[in-house]
Amino acid sequence: MEFKKSQELYNQGLVNLVGAVNSPVRAFASVGGNPLFIKKAKGSKITDVDGNSYVDLVLSYGPMILGHRHKKVQKAITKALKNGYSFGASTKNEIKLAKIVCDAFPGMDKVRFVNSGTEAVLSGIRLARAFTGKDKIIKFSGCYHGHQDALLVAAGSGLATLSLPGSKGVPEGAVKNTLIANYNDLESVKAHFDAHDDIAGVILEPVAGNMGVVTPQNNFLKELKEYVNSKGALLIIDEVMTGFRSKFGGAQELFDVEADITCLGKVIGGGFPVGAYGARNEIMEMVAPLGGMYQAGTLSGNPIAMAGGIATLTELKKQNPYEKFNEIAQIIEVFLLESAKKYDVEITVNRFGSMINPFFTNKTVTNFTEAQTSDTEKFATFFWAMMHNGVFLPPSQFEAWFLSSALSEKDIQKIAKAIDKGMEAVSKM
Ligand SMILES: *Cc1c(COP(=O)(O)O)cnc(C)c1O
Repeated sequence: MEFKKSQELYNQGLVNLVGAVNSPVRAFASVGGNPLFIKKAKGSKITDVDGNSYVDLVLSYGPMILGHRHKKVQKAITKALKNGYSFGASTKNEIKLAKIVCDAFPGMDKVRFVNSGTEAVLSGIRLARAFTGKDKIIKFSGCYHGHQDALLVAAGSGLATLSLPGSKGVPEGAVKNTLIANYNDLESVKAHFDAHDDIAGVILEPVAGNMGVVTPQNNFLKELKEYVNSKGALLIIDEVMTGFRSKFGGAQELFDVEADITCLGKVIGGGFPVGAYGARNEIMEMVAPLGGMYQAGTLSGNPIAMAGGIATLTELKKQNPYEKFNEIAQIIEVFLLESAKKYDVEITVNRFGSMINPFFTNKTVTNFTEAQTSDTEKFATFFWAMMHNGVFLPPSQFEAWFLSSALSEKDIQKIAKAIDKGMEAVSKM
């Protein structure tokens, strides 16, 4: 397998782009080698500029849940393009997507569309502060909520990949109201509430995907919600990754817990820049123009993005691939465990619906500290073996692999074979 053209483009890209990428995890920093440049993708497959084709388990970090260029989505956006690109005024499709989203989340009466997950979360945080009149926010170590200042501490995702504790350029003042708790550890949350009386809300990923996949243990989410509300604070559930991924709607219903504020992104745009935050009426009425919390966006509710989102969610609802996702994830888990055993490699596999990944550790992984016991060099070796055998993975130990509904039996066999080669390579290190 050659990466000559990707290498050439990488060198060209270094001149006017930062690290030749527009988002750090794309740089392959933790697995070595140069980043891939993509030419095109269709269905379950993605093709780089050298003509190498891979089964895609990155899926743009989640949005492409139907696979690439689904016919119905393509048709919808082509139609929307004919009417214009952006108006600075409302369109019917915004109402339509809002209804689809609110219907899927029982706790959401109203929704506001924005352009990214980052924007959804920063607005959701502002809303929690506006509603409660308090300032402090608790987040969990290893959860990623986009790149806003206040939440760029102990943040998982690219920061974990690059081993950064936080970000330069974030003033102390911006994080002085951010408190860090341990995932799956309610006591660590209670300790903060015992010490502070001005906590507006607690934010978390209902299933963490940005430290690798980490699921909530026992009744963690339910107990958290009950406790947080009993303290007069709001629970903000960041479903940017999990929304519409493990069921139509969010992880909230699967765990029988209702967020006070829900943040969405990724799948709801189907590959176009859409984020959203929503809540019950009482909370959303704080937002301008109904209330005094200001939040706006020139391109928010963009007509092309709305068309992409509506078509994606409509098709997703029709396909209802969630049972199939569970089955495929289970099959991949078995491949991983059996192959690891065969080559005497220690791994732990975590999965939830269509999110799965192996950690190269012998520990169970229920929080960020445990995730960090993983051997990232083993992951790097495994990653490149997977690539050379035609499977595109997120280039980081701390990112989930995603499944699309376009995966075929043949793709799954290809994944199995690549996993075997990957474990063999790790065993030879
Ligand atoms: C990806 C992600 C974000 C940020 O979304 P962007 O669209 O990249 O800004 C926020 N929260 C979670 C849980 C995410 O996975």
